[in-house]
Amino acid sequence: MTALAQAAVLMRRRPRVAVLTGAGISVESGIPDFRSAQGLWSRYDPAEYATLWAFRRDPHRVWRMLAEMIQVVDAARPNPAHQALARMERAGVVKGVVTQNIDGLHQAAGSREVLEFHGNCRSLSCLECGRRYTREEAAVLGVPPPCGCGALLKPDIVFFGETISERALEDSRELAAHCDIILVVGTSAEVAPANQMPWIARQHGATVVELNLEPTCLTDSVTDIFVPGPAATTLHELAEEVLGTVTSHE
Ligand code: NAD
Repeated sequence: MTALAQAAVLMRRRPRVAVLTGAGISVESGIPDFRSAQGLWSRYDPAEYATLWAFRRDPHRVWRMLAEMIQVVDAARPNPAHQALARMERAGVVKGVVTQNIDGLHQAAGSREVLEFHGNCRSLSCLECGRRYTREEAAVLGVPPPCGCGALLKPDIVFFGETISERALEDSRELAAHCDIILVVGTSAEVAPANQMPWIARQHGATVVELNLEPTCLTDSVTDIFVPGPAATTLHELAEEVLGTVTSHE
């Protein structure tokens, strides 16, 4: 039996499934992950640009990266991996998705229970006075958009050096602690505290199913079933196996 078939059998038997996703799930939508040695991140090292320290020191410089990143994200559409998760949620199998992504593609695919661990690009805030703007309000202010107080706005993405909200931490722990199976999709699991979710799930008796192009630091430590391959293919096939054959991608 293949790893994918094994995972599907389990999911049919114990259908309380939590999901953790990372940049890999959106690669087939055209958004490069941090590992890809091409595209956006070959020109902008996230460790250098996506930090609170860098933004405070030189927001204009960081905004050059942000403007390009927002363009790439705006052009992206959900792929069959996002759609498979939304479909499994509608069928009552997937209870919630915790994503480290800031691209909004899970919601665009129709997922409702989405926890954006690292924030999103739909709103912006001023680090100086705390005022919050919607994307639409900020759009008319130019790039980079200034706040009324004169400082530059920052998208509500959690940069390295910023803290994850208590609420996001609690809700993701809760989801992980009460699932039968956790699907870990397209993440290198190098970024804490999101990478603790599989461990929390395992401690509470869940099976860890990892879907990735290649093994990660989780594979030989906490993963029970490793499903190799591109997520758009593996998740689509998994949904077919669990829910019954579909004739086309939604
Ligand atoms: P990462 O770049 O560190 O790792 C990506 C993982 O996805 C790798 O293990 C890679 O093997 C795997 N992968 C690549 N293509 C895949 C595919 N088609 N199918 C399955 N797996 C695939 O990403 P991370 O672990 O999410 O951590 C990086 C941080 O940067 C996170 O906060 C992340 O959300 C953020 N980020 C977000 C986006 C986005 O919003 N789309 C893009 C880049 C980075």
